[in-house]
Amino acid sequence: MIAVPFDFSFDDWRDHARQLLSRGIAPDEVDWTESRQDRSLFSMEETLPPPAPTPHHNVPASFLTLARHAWAHRDPRRPGVLYRMLWRLTRGGEKHLMSIPTDPDFHTVAGWRKSVARDIHKMHAFVRFRLVGTDDATGREQFVAWFEPSSQCLRLAVPFFVNRFAGMDWSILTPDECAHWDGKNLQFTPGLSKDSVPPEDGLDDLWRTYYRSIFNPARLKVKAMQSEMPVKYWKNLPEAPLIQGLITTSRTRMEIMLETPGRTEKPIPDNSYIQNLHTLSDIDYLDILPPPQALAELPLPELQAAARICRACPLWAKATQTVNGHGPADARIVLVGEQPGDQEDLAGTPFIGPAGKVLRAAMARAGVDEKSVYMTNAVKHFKWTPDGPRRKHVTPGREEVQHCRPWLLAEMARIQPAAVVLLGATAGLSLLNREVRITRERGLIDAPHIASRVVLTYHPSYLLRLRDGTARDRAMAEFEADLAMVAGF
Ligand code: SF4
Repeated sequence: MIAVPFDFSFDDWRDHARQLLSRGIAPDEVDWTESRQDRSLFSMEETLPPPAPTPHHNVPASFLTLARHAWAHRDPRRPGVLYRMLWRLTRGGEKHLMSIPTDPDFHTVAGWRKSVARDIHKMHAFVRFRLVGTDDATGREQFVAWFEPSSQCLRLAVPFFVNRFAGMDWSILTPDECAHWDGKNLQFTPGLSKDSVPPEDGLDDLWRTYYRSIFNPARLKVKAMQSEMPVKYWKNLPEAPLIQGLITTSRTRMEIMLETPGRTEKPIPDNSYIQNLHTLSDIDYLDILPPPQALAELPLPELQAAARICRACPLWAKATQTVNGHGPADARIVLVGEQPGDQEDLAGTPFIGPAGKVLRAAMARAGVDEKSVYMTNAVKHFKWTPDGPRRKHVTPGREEVQHCRPWLLAEMARIQPAAVVLLGATAGLSLLNREVRITRERGLIDAPHIASRVVLTYHPSYLLRLRDGTARDRAMAEFEADLAMVAGF
């Protein structure tokens, strides 16, 4: 019997298993003994017979993927069971083992993988970052989150956070190990205790404000909520202290809602939309859309901070960050575009790409003072698709526009501009709540629910796309005339 310690990483297990396999050592000859001693592969090799001259074993990639995920489970049997599966797949002639769901080994390993997948999902949904300071050298803000996953799934879960929070410096601390991202590099260090987590900060208040504002008692489903947000995670959620109180008062709050004149039920999103969501937890966010009335009570900086954590539609998952509006909170004029582009997504500021340059130049010629204008978009996250090395713009869909509308309405309610310029059809769809044809309706339109003066005009990216010089000059002149009309308000 060969004793092999299993207190090591998946890569170490794979190296050990490869050594054992190449020497023809059968699973029942291996004792995967738990050991915290530092027993290297080299010392194990000394005890092994030399490799047998056997043919190279092809290990299915699907097995390696399955095994890598299952390894994150804490069941101490996993090295032995995985090695037995590996043996059967390669030396045992059972190439189709992974297509037999009733096989005991495969069933066990698939169960571990499923459990780990659930933990990864919970981690994506319930990690909450806290702002803990600013790096003196780089000036970048530092965020830290504490999480206690049931499995050792940090490395499997962390690519999501790298993608989602690429522009932030953050650390995720767990008892097993910690991940650190500085905007360029990902590093891992040994696990820590919860005492290492800095105390509560303002971001927790923001979470609570956001959670309170999006909580809709008419949509309350306590069982679904508790299964999706298990109580064991509550202790690390800043919004957790609110949950019991909101559930207790939900009946009263719903009665008040129903008695409020003009209050209408929000449409329930259809299933096809829900299926496209990135995580199950987003269903909760969708189900309890933020009421604009509640959001509109937030000061503009808090409103924008709350929008940074919005997950009401799937667009947040592929974007770098929420791109909020930019400009004075008491602006007389608000310009509404479609959505941030590639450059805006990276910088977090609207209208800084090629279309923004066209807009700013046209505003200058039309006499609109840029400093007195608030610029924003109907949709706050960049929707794109890969196109070679580029990220190609994709027009946001009607549902995405609808889900983002509360943020725009809240901005409008907060700023209360005298004039609003709708740049393009998406801005029109969002604020007029109907399809618009710019070429037919361009100019001053009647929409007193938005502002006393509302101008519908081209989006500057449309001007950029016009190839015909004469058509472009004519459209540009019309665009500037529309802006000049706003300057005169
Ligand atoms: S696009 Fe709008 S609704 Fe969708 S996640 Fe972003 S902020 Fe939320």
